[in-house]
Amino acid sequence: MGIAIVGAGLGGLALARVLHVHGIQAVVYERESSRHARGQGGTLDIHSGQRALRDAGLIDGFHAIARGSGQDMRLFEPDGTLLLQEDTPDDAPLLRPEVDRAALRDLLLDSLPEGTVRWGHAFASADNGVLRFADGGSAPYDLLVGADGANSRVRALLTDAAPTHLGQNLVELGIPDIDRTHPDLAAMVGRGTCWVLGDGLSLAAQRKGDGHVRVGVGFYNTAEDWIATCGIPFDDPAATRAWLVDRLAGWDPRFPALVAACADEVVPRQVATLPIGLTWPPTPGVTLLGDAAHLMPPTGEGANMALLDGALLGRALAAHPDDYPTAVREYELEMFERTSAAARMSAEVQKMLMAPDAAQRVLAFFQPDA
Ligand SMILES: Cc1cc2nc3c(=O)[nH]c(=O)nc-3n(C[C@H](O)[C@H](O)[C@H](O)COP(=O)(O)OP(=O)(O)OC[C@H]3O[C@@H](n4cnc5c(N)ncnc54)[C@H](O)[C@@H]3O)c2cc1C
Repeated sequence: MGIAIVGAGLGGLALARVLHVHGIQAVVYERESSRHARGQGGTLDIHSGQRALRDAGLIDGFHAIARGSGQDMRLFEPDGTLLLQEDTPDDAPLLRPEVDRAALRDLLLDSLPEGTVRWGHAFASADNGVLRFADGGSAPYDLLVGADGANSRVRALLTDAAPTHLGQNLVELGIPDIDRTHPDLAAMVGRGTCWVLGDGLSLAAQRKGDGHVRVGVGFYNTAEDWIATCGIPFDDPAATRAWLVDRLAGWDPRFPALVAACADEVVPRQVATLPIGLTWPPTPGVTLLGDAAHLMPPTGEGANMALLDGALLGRALAAHPDDYPTAVREYELEMFERTSAAARMSAEVQKMLMAPDAAQRVLAFFQPDA
């Protein structure tokens, strides 16, 4: 019996790994041509997802790449007022460490037998137990697991639901080797994340494990077509930086300096979400996990839920190796409940970040008794 997983993101790979630990083979079809085909993003805060990594037999490998110091946080107002500084003691337990998404994906990829991931296979459709790929190829399956992220194509086999825009658009840039190139800015960012909130914007600078700092400028209460209509020339990084520096006029000069110091590609992103509590009726031979099933605002839950989905579906399949429908139903019932709660929490945090007094609200969230 063949298990086909579409998408070699964190959730799909966690499933393949837990199945492998239980002696069950699966094939992962990934649209990218190789693991290095595109940048793998910034860092992720891994908390409940550690349980999945334990199930996958990868917790020691995770500890080797996780950064407790990445939990450090600084919160500023646009005028430069430091509202909050949280530094993680060296001996603090690794409750919510940061890990580079690329390093975590490599850990999972390297734990799978050669050939498990079939690169360059973009899923196009499925019918009667046959997967069809964009290049015209095909492959048989008994169980199809859509782990193909926010804009999942597998999702349409189960539900008409589609992501809706949340009124936030993001522009992501980066400063390579910040300690050497901009030591003053490195000191301001610190070892973790530095946030500036106000004026309908967020500016976040987040340190990765290799000294690269990911800078994201978030524009709240903006339209779905903002990326096309805002006038930023995204294909020209220098002109994009100049546009953003202009937009931060009047802010403490250290903040536009963070944008001016960026020196790599510019990635615009829309922020969207699936309906909270999305479910679908039991459907033979198909299920979803991760963002494909429950895309939520980017507030630190998505990767954890995807890892857990993968591990728990893997465990259910191992418990019912001859009965995929029972395994899938058991997984889906738990997943619907767990991820609805996470999505509700993420929506609350997103609301807080989009409020006009976001900085004060975030401060109250972290220091409720102050
Ligand atoms: C390149 C990238 C960078 C990211 N950076 C960050 C970040 O910095 N911070 C953050 O919080 N989150 C980031 N995310 C999102 C985060 O990883 C996910 O929200 C979370 O891990 C959920 O994982 P997932 O496995 O459901 O989906 P994802 O990790 O998004 O993985 C989905 C996978 O499916 C593949 N895929 C999509 N369509 C098809 C298709 N038709 N056929 C075959 N394969 C397909 C994609 O190429 C991808 O590898 C990023 C995602 C990606 C893909």
